[in-house]
Amino acid sequence: MSIRRRVASRQSHARTAVSAASAPVAAATPAGIVTEIAEAAIPQDERVWVPQAPDVWFRPLLLNTVSGGWCNLLRVRRAGVLSRHRHPMIVTGYVIRGRWRYLEHDWVAEPGSFVYEPPGEIHTLVVPDDCVEMITYFNISGAMIYVDERGATVGYEDVWTKIAMCREHYDSVGLGATYVDRYIR
Ligand code: FE
Repeated sequence: MSIRRRVASRQSHARTAVSAASAPVAAATPAGIVTEIAEAAIPQDERVWVPQAPDVWFRPLLLNTVSGGWCNLLRVRRAGVLSRHRHPMIVTGYVIRGRWRYLEHDWVAEPGSFVYEPPGEIHTLVVPDDCVEMITYFNISGAMIYVDERGATVGYEDVWTKIAMCREHYDSVGLGATYVDRYIR
């Protein structure tokens, strides 16, 4: 093959690869597969935020009933201690707005910060006085176990308690209890 023909052949392969890469996959979708979720994380509709405590809300993104856990945005519009808790499993977070920290650590999470929280650690979430609003994306596996100053368990949350909170709230604000179903997998 001449050099010119080899180049032409390579270009033709490149064109085939590009057009194949930009085309949708034609393979059949497996029966029973659950639908994807793709929407604006910060909702247009204020009612999507579920009240958690005075001036604290969560916005569900994924309620995972298969392995147990959930992804949500946490929004806080007050300063001070929010909660003291431990996680039996991994938690990761990404700060979107505002600032917060754990009393047990010397770092401050701020917009753009990524946080990994190791299973078993007890920490106390605090929002500083000068922070008007903080919004953080959290991916929580397992549960949140709330503890007192001595580390004794005083409450918990898991995917089922989160779903129940969402159902009650969405029902009360007119979205309907089943509105939460779109986030349940
Ligand atoms: Fe935590």
